[in-house]
Amino acid sequence: MANSVYLLSGANLGDRQRNLERACEMLGSMAGKIEKRSAYYETDAWGVTSQPAFWNQAILLSTPLEPDQLLTVIHQIEQVLGRRRDQRWGARTLDIDILYFGDQVIRTERLSVPHPEIANRRFTLVPLAGIAPGFVHPLLRKTNLELLELCSDPLAVRQLRMDK
Ligand code: ATP
Ligand code: CA
Ligand code: CA
Repeated sequence: MANSVYLLSGANLGDRQRNLERACEMLGSMAGKIEKRSAYYETDAWGVTSQPAFWNQAILLSTPLEPDQLLTVIHQIEQVLGRRRDQRWGARTLDIDILYFGDQVIRTERLSVPHPEIANRRFTLVPLAGIAPGFVHPLLRKTNLELLELCSDPLAVRQLRMDK
């Protein structure tokens, strides 16, 4: 049985658009079917400043994998795209976070789902509300759009207009 999973991809090193494109292609071949993709959005780096701005995209994936298996595939894709795990919140070629795994609540050593920071991050909520405004957060019991309206994150999130 396939599960509906919302992901957030992010990149702030190298060719950011290409990294996000490749991430999507690899998810489609290794993890299931890409059902929806948001626009690309740009946000100044969070936490650690003085790095290039982040590009982010929210993705709806339909997957036969279990949460743990999906995380393993995500780590493989991050590796292929050259991510180095040295500095947390440091610059990276690719980051993929699991935002929601259906309406499952998972709290293990490897996985926290829903992602604990969804409600605090405008760079997550803006793309997410773009593809799933009415999806209800299984713990907070609010839709993504409501969470966005309540979010006090001051960082501006700019939609990137692609000429193609
Ligand atoms: P943040 O999670 O605050 O955005 P990050 O994405 O920079 O931080 P990473 O270094 O990419 O953090 O991941 C650290 C670990 O977080 C991963 O190895 C993974 O085991 C764990 N993790 C826990 N919950 C999740 C989730 N929902 N999606 C992806 N990874 C998760
Ligand atoms: Ca992240
Ligand atoms: Ca991550």
